Amino acid sequence: MNDILLQVKDLKQYYPVTTKEQGKTFVRALDGVTFDVKRGETLGIVGESGCGKSTMGLTICKLIEPTDGQIVLDGEDITKYGRKQMREIRKKIQMVFQDPYASLNPRMSVYDIVAEPLVIHKLFQSKEDIDARVIELLRQVGLDAYHAKRYPHEFSGGQRQRIGIARALAVEPQVIIADEPVSALDVSIQSQVLNLMCDLREQYGLTYLFISHDLSVVEHISDTVGVMYLGSFVEMADKKSLYDNPVHPYTQALLSAVPKPDPRERKEKIILSGNIPSPVNVPKGCKFHPRCKYCTDICKEAVPERTQISDSHYVYCHRAKEFAK
Ligand code: SF4
Repeated sequence: MNDILLQVKDLKQYYPVTTKEQGKTFVRALDGVTFDVKRGETLGIVGESGCGKSTMGLTICKLIEPTDGQIVLDGEDITKYGRKQMREIRKKIQMVFQDPYASLNPRMSVYDIVAEPLVIHKLFQSKEDIDARVIELLRQVGLDAYHAKRYPHEFSGGQRQRIGIARALAVEPQVIIADEPVSALDVSIQSQVLNLMCDLREQYGLTYLFISHDLSVVEHISDTVGVMYLGSFVEMADKKSLYDNPVHPYTQALLSAVPKPDPRERKEKIILSGNIPSPVNVPKGCKFHPRCKYCTDICKEAVPERTQISDSHYVYCHRAKEFAK
């Protein structure tokens, strides 16, 4: 069995726009991302809002068609698959969204929400079998059988996210793309939902693509972490290397802002100058150069190549070797 479950190669998502300054041009929401995810692994994707991480989730799930690049799931190239072929593939790849309330139909009961994928994919023939599976799924996410008759508005945010997870689990997917699944929840509820996701990963051997702007949340759940900036990865590493030895100046700045309860672990906060440039007007050379205090002439001209720091750690920065400990 292939160890790699999901392969993404040079994936692009460009939207045509017209601006006063440039005329017809493109928003480069996703600008050539490449990565592999191993079976059973959790890849955390972090970055500020607008960096392209949510677009990446939607594009991999083919809820929006990619402009270019390739998506290979379990050895099958699904890049050009149409709606009919994707219906089969959706049994393998599911999404959990940030806002559980918006992603659950308020007019459907919890039973109907969780049963819907079972019916669409004809996974069970009899009503009794569907009933039993719905109850089983609700129990697996920490809800009770009587919840099936209720409607989304009768639940708390955490419970609604549990319903969203039960719906995603219904088809027994291999991969779940979770886009900011706990961002809308209180901190105490966040850890309950994260722990549930960890338990389900163990139980079902799930593979997660976990998208979040919150580095503490990503650290909790991920094996590998990729940092995105303006539609591309700037650094990817196993969790320990990334959090202990961040190399890219952008990763260093993001990590310096994470609150640490232990004062000995606290680092001086790195304040980045300026804001993320518009994806319509992507800076030449290293996209991060207008905000980087280490910028040199080459950074303004040439796009950095991938620099390997170790087997499981790579960085896109001209000065990566200097910055690596
Ligand atoms: Fe900074 Fe240059 Fe590295 Fe970009 S390539 S992060 S500008 S040092």
